[in-house]
Formats: sequence, structure tokens, C-alpha cells
Amino acid sequence: MTAAKRGRQRRVTVAMMRQHVEELVAKHVPWDVPVIQCKGLRDARTLWHGRELLEISLPPVKSAVSYATALHELGHILGRYQHSPKVMTCEGWAWLWAKQTALIWTPRMRYTSGEALMWYAAQVMRRTEQRRQARRRLAAAGVMAKRRQR
Ligand SMILES: [Zn+2]
Repeated sequence: MTAAKRGRQRRVTVAMMRQHVEELVAKHVPWDVPVIQCKGLRDARTLWHGRELLEISLPPVKSAVSYATALHELGHILGRYQHSPKVMTCEGWAWLWAKQTALIWTPRMRYTSGEALMWYAAQVMRRTEQRRQARRRLAAAGVMAKRRQR
């Protein structure tokens, strides 16, 4: 039985969620890594230098959504495939870690993770398109070899 399934059978309070995040931080974040409390959910992040974790910014846990966001950031430290060069791999697996670790996984938490992943997917598509256009311009200028259109 996963943690999320166990949680559905009892009421999980915000205080329990907050305590859960505090326990995970105490247990898994190296003592010399600063854990910063950020204001907004959008400021939550893990800061890396290569494979060295420099800093983690977590939102205060005030709701299921900020709980999910805090867990997601911890998922960037503790989840699988976090050193993949593919951003969607890192993001997807960090959310999966969050879901599997959470005491509860509500529809709002699921919605938050879906929105976040869609945002990243849109960024990736935008960047891919920009690169494609840049290649086309360079090819047209004779700087780069023309690629076969896919
Ligand atoms: Zn993330």
C-alpha cells in the first residue's frame, strides 16, 4: 500500500503535512545545504551546481497544494532520474516521487502537478521550435547543413 493510499483512509491535516515535510527535510537534506522558505509557490526550487545541491527553497506548507509543491522540490533531490538532461524526465519523476511520498493526494494536488508539467511541456515545445527555426535560418544562410525535415 502506498503512502497516498494509506492517507486516504484518514484525515490528513495541514499540520501533519507541514510536519511530514519537516521530517523529510531533516532526514534527507544534507545539513550543510541551506533550506530557504520562499514566499510564493513559483519561487520553490532546488539549486544545483552540477550534481552538488547548493540550496533548496520550499514554500510554507499552508494547504495541500503548497504541500505538493514542497514535496515536488524534495522529489528533485530524492526522486529517480533527477540528473537526466531532459527537463520533462526530471519534472515528471519529481512529481511521481511527491505523489508516492505524500500522506494524501487530492484532486487539487493532481491538478497542480498536471499544470506544472504542462507548463514545462509548453516551454520544451517552444524551445524546440526556436531551435528548429534557428537551424532553418542558418541552413538558409549556408552556415549549417540542411537537415531532413521530420
Ligand atoms: Zn520541478
